[in-house]
Amino acid sequence: MFTAELATVAYIAATILFVLSLGGLSNQTTALRGNLYGMIGMTLAVLATVLGPKVSMAGLPWVVGAMVVGGSIGMYAAKTVQMTQMPELVALMHSMVGLAAVLVGVATFIDPEASRSFVGAAKSIHEMEIYIGVFIGAITFSGSVIAFGKLSGRISGNPLLLPARHWLNLVGLLVVIWFGNAFMNAHSIPDGMTPLIIMTVVALLFGIHMVMAIGGADMPVVVSMLNSYSGWAAAATGFMLSNDLLIVVGALVGSSGAILSYIMCNAMNRSFISVIAGGFGTASANPAPAGGAAQPAGEVTPISSVETAELLREAKSVIIVPGYGMAVAQAQHTVYEITKYLREKGVNIRFGIHPVAGRMPGHMNVLLAEAKVPYDIVLEMDELNDDFPKTDVVMVIGANDIVNPGAQDDPTSPIAGMPVLEVWKAKTSIVMKRSMASGYAGVDNPLFYKDNNRMLFGDAKKMLDEVLLSLKT
Ligand code: NDP
Repeated sequence: MFTAELATVAYIAATILFVLSLGGLSNQTTALRGNLYGMIGMTLAVLATVLGPKVSMAGLPWVVGAMVVGGSIGMYAAKTVQMTQMPELVALMHSMVGLAAVLVGVATFIDPEASRSFVGAAKSIHEMEIYIGVFIGAITFSGSVIAFGKLSGRISGNPLLLPARHWLNLVGLLVVIWFGNAFMNAHSIPDGMTPLIIMTVVALLFGIHMVMAIGGADMPVVVSMLNSYSGWAAAATGFMLSNDLLIVVGALVGSSGAILSYIMCNAMNRSFISVIAGGFGTASANPAPAGGAAQPAGEVTPISSVETAELLREAKSVIIVPGYGMAVAQAQHTVYEITKYLREKGVNIRFGIHPVAGRMPGHMNVLLAEAKVPYDIVLEMDELNDDFPKTDVVMVIGANDIVNPGAQDDPTSPIAGMPVLEVWKAKTSIVMKRSMASGYAGVDNPLFYKDNNRMLFGDAKKMLDEVLLSLKT
């Protein structure tokens, strides 16, 4: 059993391990070690908490029972989830953190013992922690559920733009402040419950409205922002439970999520405020439903897998640009086989990764690492964009929005201003996809109609298998 002193020492060790874990996760070569640090830190944290001074012997079976049920569900989800469902699973997990903050907040408030142990200024601070914690938690919960719906295609990716939506948000905020005042001045638990419930409902609606209003290709920022919110919700829970480790860990997740949101905003040339205010870049455009058929705007030149293999065989330099379709097709292993074959033949082959490729930050890096593609040939967009004019063949595998020249040329496009991989500057670009359907942002792609572009239609895995066979025979 952990005494209070031992639990504190374990918490400090766990904090250090979490910081090391985050540091490790910032680079592919150290990511495995980073994960390991995180797992050890979390085991230590859970043991120190469950066996620590704050959990009574009578409460232990409940805690262990909940851990077994929760752990089994988590293990089952992690084992069965497809790689393409990963982003929505992450969104769902964020929603759980939000829900936990709301439940802990309400439970702490209605616990008569907890409220009796605070008096004067400490009581006000405690109540403010509860109010803010429930507020952040409710926004995180409902926003993440909507993000889950959007990422899994259950809810349309198009932005819902209510009239006077900014005013609605402002009114919501004023209502929250007004009832915050009523909550802080309530004299009894039942008196405080009404403002707390009203605020929770407003916060839930605010979360729904905020994410529903995000459209086009701005979802990556929302995903990382909800990641950040889930951290702040956890930190708020830490304050409510007076658990220092939860405060520190929540702050780590919250601030790293905020930094990621900033990086994603930069990658998309967006201002953070305009993204979360919603509807950015959608004023003039009426995007086609994501994945639906965009209006074809010209003639495309198809190419066969045999011809693709010939082009690759003759090339001296090749760049592969993977996108969401590679994840759908699970084509990363064949991509690696082709890469290995061409490298052995002396071709300079590299990968160009767009920061918002796929459906979650780092999506492509994870897939390529899984297929054992060497890290040193996987480059960021900025490291590679100047090299396209010197490249013989670019293979765009299931990517669309991230290689759309309309982002540079068409100021009315919903993705206008978003930096893209300039694949059309290569000698030949080959786009692999199944149809002429649009990508996530729902816009047509002028790249497909360029003279030096070829379309290799079909499932990416199937077509790449054919290309590999042709290369080898
Ligand atoms: P896109 O969604 O723009 O395009 C993916 C393309 O893959 C589609 O056009 C589709 O065409 C093709 N495809 C799908 N399945 C297959 C398959 N089995 N074989 C071959 N092709 C396939 O993806 P990008 O990666 O280019 O861009 C990412 C988009 O997602 C951006 O708009 C980004 O903002 C958004 N987003 C990113 C997030 C992130 O964190 N990274 C989070 C949320 C959204 P077809 O149907 O014709 O095959």
